[in-house]
Amino acid sequence: MQKFSGFELFRRALGGHKSWQPQWRSPEPKAEYDVIIVGAGGHGLAAAYYLAKEHGITNVAVIERGWLGGGNTGRNTTIVRSNYLFDESAALYEHAVKLWEGLSADLNYNVMYSARGVLMLAHNHHDEISFKRHVHSNRLNGVDNEWLTAEQVKEFCPPLNITSMRYPIIGGALQRRGGTARHDAVAWGFARAADARGVDIIQNCEVKAIRRGPSGAVEGVETTKGFIRAKKIGVSAAGHTSVVMAMAGLRMPLESYPLQALVSEPVKPAFPTVVMSNTIHAYISQSDKGEMVIGAGTDAYTSYSQRGALHITTHTLDAICELVPQFRRLRMLRNWGGIVDVTPDRSPIIAKTPVPGLYVNCGWGTGGFKATPGSGNVFAHTIARDAPHPINAPFTLERFRDGFLIDEAAAAAVAH
Ligand SMILES: Cc1cc2nc3c(=O)[nH]c(=O)nc-3n(C[C@H](O)[C@H](O)[C@H](O)COP(=O)(O)OP(=O)(O)OC[C@H]3O[C@@H](n4cnc5c(N)ncnc54)[C@H](O)[C@@H]3O)c2cc1C
Repeated sequence: MQKFSGFELFRRALGGHKSWQPQWRSPEPKAEYDVIIVGAGGHGLAAAYYLAKEHGITNVAVIERGWLGGGNTGRNTTIVRSNYLFDESAALYEHAVKLWEGLSADLNYNVMYSARGVLMLAHNHHDEISFKRHVHSNRLNGVDNEWLTAEQVKEFCPPLNITSMRYPIIGGALQRRGGTARHDAVAWGFARAADARGVDIIQNCEVKAIRRGPSGAVEGVETTKGFIRAKKIGVSAAGHTSVVMAMAGLRMPLESYPLQALVSEPVKPAFPTVVMSNTIHAYISQSDKGEMVIGAGTDAYTSYSQRGALHITTHTLDAICELVPQFRRLRMLRNWGGIVDVTPDRSPIIAKTPVPGLYVNCGWGTGGFKATPGSGNVFAHTIARDAPHPINAPFTLERFRDGFLIDEAAAAAVAH
């Protein structure tokens, strides 16, 4: 695998940078693989990478109907944190944060993980009680999270307006190890590292059907490039999971919604951390390019429309201008949408399914980017061993039948 060291950059610069190899191959699909992953987002690519790296399964294809990283992985606002309330979620997201911390070195690719802190603002007594409960619960689970007073919030993030607004800031919960990572680099880093271990990434190839044999077990997928055989299929198709799983006859407990975001024109470093406010419905961070990255809540209706809309942008910017009044002068550059798949308890499903050989990783809703390495890691384990990793064992499909919900939605009413 080619290295990206300072020396290599210098050496190849002398040759006009003509000697770099492509980051990954563009192979035609083989007739058969040991494992097919549907969806080349960060989760699918990470699963393929860990299948090869940790389980020695390299005869793997990742099938993508568009271009890799073109789904939610390339559309999200890149917030990474693990300060979830329930033990099951804290274990899952903390597994991911620990992998984020060493990911650039592991992939030999700079994913630009920036632990600049994630600050969740409290605007009322209910927020304060809820966040303090999170802080205590997180500490019991070994996850860093601390309560800041309003003055400490201002000190940590000086651009914030803490008083003259509809809902003054009365404090906040800060996870210092949280932050952001560069979304494209995450997809590209996993793609390159998986490809180097022999995984075939097949882009512009849509899965149209899942073929099942007489026993009910999967036999392979019908695609726009023909039939591809595999005894194991892992679906990581985010907003289109219901559509793909219906191809195998499974109805999923999912609803798909558009989720929107926008960025400003780039400016000099002006915002030092990630700030989230559930009460006034906005969150913001500054990318390394200088743009203010701003996110909204999900649209109020289900849809497969991957587009931004002005009324959502306006509502979100109202909130941002209250939080940071000087940003009123910023011009907005672009807005967009992604399709997120939401479960009834707002926690993901990473599990075997009733169909032999079919596995699913979905339901990440508005907050799956932060889990990318951890999710791929435990999904690979589940596929390779035909049994869940202890971390994803509670995240079953059956919990919606049996009632063992992991109800982060009720706990936090939180996005991302
Ligand atoms: C605007 C927005 C902001 C967000 N902000 C955050 C955030 O700040 N922090 C956070 O943690 N999360 C955030 N999220 C959520 C996060 O983006 C997702 O949970 C995560 O990226 C999902 O990754 P994935 O790999 O599962 O999905 P994707 O990247 O969407 O990959 C799924 C892939 O499956 C492919 N596919 C679908 N159907 C088929 C088919 N039939 N055949 C072949 N391929 C198919 C798609 O083309 C797609 O590329 C946000 C999402 C959005 C939309």
